[in-house]
Amino acid sequence: MAPARVGAYPARPFSRPNIPGPVTDTLKITDIPVAGYERVVRGQDPTCGLHAIIAVHDTTLGPALGGLRMWPYATEEEALFDVKRLSRGMSFKSAVAHTGLGGGKAVMIGDPKKVKSEALYLAMGRLIDALGGKYITAEDVNTSVADLEVIRRATKHVTGLEKKDGGSGNPSPYTAYGVFLGVRAALGWVFGNDSCKGRTVAIQGTGAVGSALARRLVEGGAKVYGADKNTDRLAQLQKEIGLVPVSEAEIMTMKSDVFAPCALGAILNDQTIPKLNTPIVAGAANNLLLEPRHGKMLADRNVLYAPDYVINAGGIVNVSVEFHPGGYDEKVSLGKIERIPKALKELWTIAKEERIPPSDAADRLAERILADARGLKKATACAIPPKGKSGGG
Ligand code: NAD
Repeated sequence: MAPARVGAYPARPFSRPNIPGPVTDTLKITDIPVAGYERVVRGQDPTCGLHAIIAVHDTTLGPALGGLRMWPYATEEEALFDVKRLSRGMSFKSAVAHTGLGGGKAVMIGDPKKVKSEALYLAMGRLIDALGGKYITAEDVNTSVADLEVIRRATKHVTGLEKKDGGSGNPSPYTAYGVFLGVRAALGWVFGNDSCKGRTVAIQGTGAVGSALARRLVEGGAKVYGADKNTDRLAQLQKEIGLVPVSEAEIMTMKSDVFAPCALGAILNDQTIPKLNTPIVAGAANNLLLEPRHGKMLADRNVLYAPDYVINAGGIVNVSVEFHPGGYDEKVSLGKIERIPKALKELWTIAKEERIPPSDAADRLAERILADARGLKKATACAIPPKGKSGGG
C-alpha cells in the first residue's frame, strides 16, 4: 500500500492577485526559541506600532493554519503564553479533523479600538510573508475579513476570504453543521438513537454558530432553549423557529438532553459542573474546560463530553478545502465535515476502553496522529538516497 502523503500539500492555486505592500526596512523579526515548537517569531515595527508573535507549532501534516488575534495583552509574556496554547490547539484540531494542515497562530498586541491601521496590517502581512508559507493566517478574535484584505496586499498566505474573492467565506455555518452532526452522534451514543425528535437542547449563545445550530436542531424535531446577552436575537429566533428564551443563569442548570455551549470558553469548572442537569455537553465554544481535570469531573458525573476542538472543526475543515487542487469546493467540504461523528465515536471508544475522559482521549488521538506522521516522514526521508549516490550504499 502506498504510504499516506505527509506534509506534501500541493501548492495552493492562487487566483487572487498578490500585490506586495510598501516595503519598509523598519520591521524587525526575531526568533523566540520555544521547546516543542517549530518556530516562534516576534515582529516589531515602531513606525506603525506592530508588536506581534507568530507561533508555528507543527507542520508535519501541512502548513500551519490558524487565526490572527488582536488582544490588549498586558505583557509580551502573556501574549506568548496565549499564542503557544492556541497554536498547539490548532495542530491537534487539524490532526483529528484530517485537514492536511498543521497548527499555528498569530497574536498582535494592542487594543483593537486604538491601534488598528492600514500600515499595521501591511507590516503584519510582511511578517507572515517572511515565514514563506509555513504559517497561513485567517480571521480570529478582533480581526475581520477587511483586515485580512489589507494583509493580503503583503502576503498570499491568507485564508477565509469572501467566496467572491476565491476564499471559502464565513466558516460559522460549517462549524454549526459539524456541531449539529456531533450532537446527533452524542444522542446516538447515550440514548442508542441519534434522532433529534422530541429531544431538548439548551444552547448557550445564539450568535453566528448557535443560531445556525438552533435552526438545524428545530428542523430535526428538537425543542430548543436558548440564552444570549443579545435579547433581540433571542426574540427573533423565538419568532422564526420557536426557540424558547431562558435566562443566562438558567441555561446551564436546566434539565435538557444536550447542553450546547456556543458562547464562551472556560465555562466547565468546579462551580458549574455540579449544577449541570444534562447527560451530554456538545457545543461550539473553544477551550470549554477551565482545566484539563474538568474533563474527568464530567466523566465522573456520567456526562458525555464532545471535546470542543473535535466537534467544532467544521469551520477549519471548510477553510482547508481552499488548499485542494482546483480550489474550494463546498461538496468536498461537507463530505469532510460529515466525518466529525466518526471522529467523536472513535475517541469516545478510546475513552471507554482506556478509562480516560474523552478530552484526554482527543489529545491522545491527536498526539498519535502527529507521531505517526512524524515517523512516516522520517522513514520516507531515510529511504531517499543521499544526493550524488545511486542508492544502495
Ligand atoms: P458570536 O460572537 O457570533 O456568538 C457568541 C454569542 O454568545 C453572542 O451572541 C453573545 O452575545 C453570546 N454570549 C456572550 N456571553 C454570553 C453569556 N454569558 N451567556 C449567553 N450568551 C453569551 O460567535 P460565534 O462565531 O457564534 O462562535 C461561538 C463560539 O464558538 C466561540 O467560542 C467561538 O470561539 C467558537 N467557534 C466558532 C467558530 C466559527 O466558525 N464561528 C469555529 C470554532 C469555534
